Amino acid sequence: MSEFLRIAIQKKGRLADGSLRLLEQAGLSVFRNPGALTCRAKGLPIELLFVRDDDIPSLVAKGVCDLGIAGENVLREEALLAHEPVDLQSVRALGFSRCMLKLAAPNTGTINSLPDLQGVKIATSYPGILGAFLRDNGIEAECVPLKGAVEIAPALGLSDAICDLVSSGATLAANGLGAFATVMESEAHLVRASALWSEEKEALLARLLRRIDGVIASRATKYIMLNAPKSALAEITALLPGADAPTIMPLAGRDDQMAVHAVCRETIFWDTLEQLEARGAHAILVLPIEKMMG
Ligand code: ATP
Ligand code: ZN
Repeated sequence: MSEFLRIAIQKKGRLADGSLRLLEQAGLSVFRNPGALTCRAKGLPIELLFVRDDDIPSLVAKGVCDLGIAGENVLREEALLAHEPVDLQSVRALGFSRCMLKLAAPNTGTINSLPDLQGVKIATSYPGILGAFLRDNGIEAECVPLKGAVEIAPALGLSDAICDLVSSGATLAANGLGAFATVMESEAHLVRASALWSEEKEALLARLLRRIDGVIASRATKYIMLNAPKSALAEITALLPGADAPTIMPLAGRDDQMAVHAVCRETIFWDTLEQLEARGAHAILVLPIEKMMG
């Protein structure tokens, strides 16, 4: 029988879309019947298992699935709470589902730094990670474990502070909370157990990884086009992040201006665009790149 890889991914939630998009961009087509818990992908011999994200670490560690896609927060929590060591290793950081586990407290209260946590109650869905953080920082506080809706715990009088996942901070603000410390940063990882695989299975993983690496590289890479005054060309091209030698062309009818085109291999942030604009660049376009080779 020829080998296939079984990958555990989140059924529904903040990891699910990113996980499926990555696998689809890596060339797998997934036709999932509503309600089905498994699905055989087309494109590579891979079977997907759709589960709750909290179950992914143990499904992979126990060998039920060969690989899993889970957030570092869930992986670390599982490792800290398990009674025996969890056999898991990261194969790739995947760059999506980025978030931070933060400590926050009501804006109107007196808790706004780590020392203020001494002796208070902190609600969290991550008692393992929070407990380790408090020990490392010499803080004695009481963890109030909650599975969800952690942000409303202070308003309900259940806790004085919270430790919860944050991406934009909008949920905290909507609940009158302000973050004052970061406990950990997290992104999705592809993980496997240390068990030895057949040569065929290892070759399949290597093939999947080559494709995933291509997807990750093309996501960060953008094509940037702008018009710049000749006098500021050196300054402007020096600002382009991770750019190869740019193409510089004259602009018809504008002797003082040039068009600059470049492939940027690093994320282009809004502040870079503002700095370019401040140096006289205009008509700035940032375009996605679908596939790359060579
Ligand atoms: P499940 O039903 O699978 O247990 P869940 O409710 O535990 O789902 P989600 O809210 O879907 O989990 O989040 C899954 C993961 O997505 C988190 O563990 C975290 O790694 C990541 N994540 C990214 N951004 C955020 C965010 N803003 N808030 C919470 N989690 C986030
Ligand atoms: Zn979960």
